[in-house]
Amino acid sequence: MALTITDVRAICTAPQRIPLVVVRVDTSEPGLYGLGCATYTQRFLTVAHAVDTYMKPLLVGKDPTRIEDIWQMAMVSPYWRNGPILNNAISGVDQALWDIKGKMANMPVYELLGGKVREGVRVYRHADGKTLEEVGDRMQAFMEDGVQVVRVQWGGYGGNAGGKMQNVNLPPEGACEGAYYDPLQYQLSVTKLFDYIRNRFGFGIELCHDVHEHLDPIEAVRLARELEPYRLFFYEDSLAPEQIEWFRIMRQQTCTPIAMGELFNNPREWTPLIAEKLIDYIRVHTSQIGGITPSVKLAHFCEAFSVRTAWHGPGDVSPVGHAANIHMDLALWNFGIQEWSGFNQASLDVFPGCPELRKGYVYANDKPGLGIDIDEELAKKFPCDERLPQWTNCRRPDGTLQRP
Ligand code: MG
Repeated sequence: MALTITDVRAICTAPQRIPLVVVRVDTSEPGLYGLGCATYTQRFLTVAHAVDTYMKPLLVGKDPTRIEDIWQMAMVSPYWRNGPILNNAISGVDQALWDIKGKMANMPVYELLGGKVREGVRVYRHADGKTLEEVGDRMQAFMEDGVQVVRVQWGGYGGNAGGKMQNVNLPPEGACEGAYYDPLQYQLSVTKLFDYIRNRFGFGIELCHDVHEHLDPIEAVRLARELEPYRLFFYEDSLAPEQIEWFRIMRQQTCTPIAMGELFNNPREWTPLIAEKLIDYIRVHTSQIGGITPSVKLAHFCEAFSVRTAWHGPGDVSPVGHAANIHMDLALWNFGIQEWSGFNQASLDVFPGCPELRKGYVYANDKPGLGIDIDEELAKKFPCDERLPQWTNCRRPDGTLQRP
């Protein structure tokens, strides 16, 4: 009997209080199934619905070993494509199929991708705080744990310190609620932060910073120049995807290394930035672009232009998605760095087999496939919060909504 897909379904859980979507693909061989990450936290119910109502009927009866063909078919079947909802649903299936293929081959996925080119995956951690000392103390704790690269942020993205920033300019009467921040005060605070960190720790540690598209393009260019003396590892998402043409200007103006792409959905967004050598690190959210299959192609494309990978790895990637990233990181020669947000105990319990961080490097286990499982009964004890996110309601001093 030929092997076929018998079921495809979404599992939603939030062991770290962040809604996650995991896809399970079952096959006609008893006990042979795969898991994939389809997490789009802010609209998780819609992705789960797409998996259950469209992916399942599309895939039941198909051969699970035909990963490329299934990926292409899932992408064009709805005719309209490259949107975040369906890309995540496709990713859940794609990663699960790689997991299944690894189990069939009795090999970890990194072996299927060509084998290890490194033993561990170097990661960066995120140090935030309301005061400079707090940021520095958190950074010191990471350094004592062996972490070699830290992303430093003073007061959250845009420097608004949890919405309590003292704006120089007050909003107009009757202004909307929101996460207010002041672009000028933010820019000034970033150079102050880097000055403090380099004075306290010197240059024995690598530093990143995430602008999170909080600045106008010319402001982002100016800040990149001002940060040059502090020798950043990279300067992250300084422009909104709608403004990527500005990277041509930024590249001519500064040698601060540039990382971009966690919001990208469409190959047309990253292709010019890579082909024109305008960025140094591509940091797509790998489930957002459709899983392992397109991410490996993207990494190989980057290799020809000396662009390295830095896959997005926040809390709104499931442990299954983190495992998929780590397997790719182990096998891709032009890997650069991996963002690592860490797991709480509940995540470790719900997802047996999580990759492990030790002394600045993350290690995959050597089990077949992605090496990670889900305890579905336990997952039910951590239901997802269906409220809309508030942090995306980000506003400038005059009350104008800003991209978050
Ligand atoms: Mg980011």
